[in-house]
Amino acid sequence: MTSVRTELPSAVRTSPRRTALISGASIAGPALAYWLNRYGFAVTVVEKASALRGGGYPIDVRGTALEVVRRMGILPRLREAHIELRRLTFLEGDGSEVASVDPHSLTGGAAGRDLEVRRGDLTDALYSVVRDDVEFLFDDSIDTFEQTGHGVDVTFRGGSRRTYDMVFGADGVHSRTREFLFGPEEQFHRHLGYCFAGFTMRNTFGLSHEVMMWNSPGRAAALYATGDNAEVHAFLNFAHPEPPFDAFRNPQAQRDLVAAVFADAGWEVPGMLAALRDADDLFFDAVSQIRMPRWSSGRVALVGDAAYAPSFLTGQGSSLALVGAYMLAGSLADRDHAAGFAAYEHDTRDFVTVNQDLVGEGDAALFPTTARALEQRNAMLRKLSVMPAARERPAHSALTLPEFDVIRPSAAGR
Ligand SMILES: Cc1cc2nc3c(=O)[nH]c(=O)nc-3n(C[C@H](O)[C@H](O)[C@H](O)COP(=O)(O)OP(=O)(O)OC[C@H]3O[C@@H](n4cnc5c(N)ncnc54)[C@H](O)[C@@H]3O)c2cc1C
Repeated sequence: MTSVRTELPSAVRTSPRRTALISGASIAGPALAYWLNRYGFAVTVVEKASALRGGGYPIDVRGTALEVVRRMGILPRLREAHIELRRLTFLEGDGSEVASVDPHSLTGGAAGRDLEVRRGDLTDALYSVVRDDVEFLFDDSIDTFEQTGHGVDVTFRGGSRRTYDMVFGADGVHSRTREFLFGPEEQFHRHLGYCFAGFTMRNTFGLSHEVMMWNSPGRAAALYATGDNAEVHAFLNFAHPEPPFDAFRNPQAQRDLVAAVFADAGWEVPGMLAALRDADDLFFDAVSQIRMPRWSSGRVALVGDAAYAPSFLTGQGSSLALVGAYMLAGSLADRDHAAGFAAYEHDTRDFVTVNQDLVGEGDAALFPTTARALEQRNAMLRKLSVMPAARERPAHSALTLPEFDVIRPSAAGR
């Protein structure tokens, strides 16, 4: 259990409350805000969207990250939101069935313990435990910042200026904070050879608690029904050797690219492409990782996808964001920024690396790029459909969370 400290270190007791600005209010941002607030920081979160962003494909919370959400008190709420996925059915190019398997046998998740929740349910739960204690600035973002001897001078896009003791980038794979600090994304972007598009569409298929996945070499189309809902998550993944940097900020270019790649595909894909044209919640990205030699510079540090996106192929993006936020805030509980950031990197990097290494370039087992590899995968799936579920992957639990002393905000003063 996290302990509540009554005796504070003299430096913390006598100095004013430290201030922190976090860019990004998705998973890493609110989780970091929660823990920094517990350690006595006055926290502001700035989010460029006009409200908390819902939507997105269902995400997993596993292993060490489960302990983080338990310590935040949101585990019961997330258990209620858990999606009970019962079946994963794979289809040939002509739509006939290859195999139908237990989802846990593929994801390495632990049945009855790990969580799969809608991304929006996780962001809502995180927001609900910080909204009263932390300042949120929606529809704004950092325009520029400058580090000085006394702090970080920030100018917001909305025009205001403020100075913070520390600034944190929790602004995702295409982090602007990272770009300010370390330069263009290309240096840290490790492309895994695919792109994907996700969006919701009407569940006209009668699907319930299940995923259907169609494959042809280099292409996959999936329909994911989280329950008996009127909507399903549609997902189109395809091999693309280079990251399409030009398309990242251009939704029409994204739609055109996906439509061209899947133009002659069978099964339900034509209907999915029609739904893609009208979707208002399209999420498109390259399948890639962010790998950086350092996650901080001066008084500014990165967390979550901004620092170490592992890609959805690992299923560990949200878990790394939650664990990283816990470790970063805890490392600062009774240290200054220099010592705290060094401890964060030292204590968290092995966990990040072992999870990022779960997948290599072009080797995503679910998305074979050649006819031969697809046939091998299908043979493996047919065997799997008659075998018991695989054991949990040790990478998910490769870090035992330390205890950090919680400082009562009132005791820390302003
Ligand atoms: C709407 C949405 C849908 C998603 N859907 C999927 C999905 O279907 N599949 C998948 O694999 N992953 C998806 N993700 C990514 C997934 O949430 C992350 O991989 C993971 O949870 C790690 O979270 P994060 O908080 O580090 O980064 P993210 O979840 O990417 O969050 C970054 C946050 O920072 C905000 N932001 C970005 N730039 C700025 C800026 N300059 N100033 C202020 N705020 C900024 C973004 O609006 C976002 O709220 C989605 C993310 C979002 C935001």
